Amino acid sequence: MADEFDLPKGDLMKGKKGLIMGLADSHSIAFGIAQQMAAQGAELAITYMESNERRAKPLAESVGGLPIACDVSDDASMDAAFAQIEKSMGTLDFLVHAIAMANREQLQGSFVENTTRDGFHFALDISVYSFVDATRRAAKLMPNGGSIITLTYLGAERPMPNYNMMGVAKAALESAVRYAARDLGPQKIRVNAISAGAIRTLSLAGIAGGRSMHAKSAALSALKEHTAIESVAGCALWLASDLGRSATGEIVHVDAGIHMMGPPEELL
Ligand code: NAD
Repeated sequence: MADEFDLPKGDLMKGKKGLIMGLADSHSIAFGIAQQMAAQGAELAITYMESNERRAKPLAESVGGLPIACDVSDDASMDAAFAQIEKSMGTLDFLVHAIAMANREQLQGSFVENTTRDGFHFALDISVYSFVDATRRAAKLMPNGGSIITLTYLGAERPMPNYNMMGVAKAALESAVRYAARDLGPQKIRVNAISAGAIRTLSLAGIAGGRSMHAKSAALSALKEHTAIESVAGCALWLASDLGRSATGEIVHVDAGIHMMGPPEELL
C-alpha cells in the first residue's frame, strides 16, 4: 500500500478475528488488506509460503498479525496451520484467500496450444482447491457466522491476452464462491470474491506481458486510472465487516470500471 495513503482508522473490526492467506511481500494484495483490517482493530493471523518467510514474517508482525508458514498444496501443512490458528485464536470471523499460481508456460501465447494436463491440474489445485479447502477449515472455526473473501480477475469472464489457464481457474473459483455461499448461508457465513483490476504484484509479473497489461489498464478503464490497492482493501473491509451482512455469493468488481467498458473509441 502506498506510504502516502492515510489509512482510515476506526473500530469497524474491533473484536473480530481474521485469517489472511497469501502474503508474499509488501506489494501483495494480502498485505494491503491486512493493513486495512488492522487499522480497523482486527486481530489477525497471516500465512505465507516458507520460501517468502524473510520478507513476509516481519510484514505480518508489523500489523500485529500471528505469522504462520503454510503451503496450500500440502495437506499436512494446512493441518498444522489451522491447528495453530485454532490454538491461538479459538474462533475466526473472517478469512481472506489471496492465493493463485500457474506455471509460467500456461500464462503466455496460445491457450489451446500451451495448456497441458499437469499445468491445468496445478493451476486448479493451488488457485481453486485451496480456496475450497481453506473455506471448509475456516468455516469450522466460525460458530457465530463469518465472512470469506477471495480474489479474482476479469480474465475469468473474458479471454484476456496471456491470462489463459489462470482465467479458467478464476472462472472455477468464482463458481466455487457461489456454491460455498449456498452451502454456508444457513450458518450465516457469507462468501464473496473481489474482482480486482491489475495491480503490480509478484503474481502479475508472472504473466507474460503483465507489466504492459498494467500500464495500459488505466487508459482502458472508465476512471482513467489504475486500480488502487487501498480500494480493494476497502472492499474487503466492507465485505468482512457487519456493513456487508446481506452480501453473499457476489463477485464485486474493484477495477476502475474496466470490466464494463466496450472497445476503445479509436477501434470503432
Ligand atoms: P502475490 O504474488 O503477492 O500473492 C500471491 C500469493 O499466493 C503469494 O503470497 C504466494 O506465495 C501465494 N501462493 C502461491 N502458491 C502457494 C502455495 N502452494 N501455498 C501457499 N501460498 C501460495 O500477488 P497478488 O497479486 O497479491 O495475488 C493475490 C490474489 O489476487 C491472487 O489470487 C491473484 O490472482 C489475485 N489478483 C491479483 C491481481 C493483480 O493484478 N495483482 C488482480 C486480480 C486478482
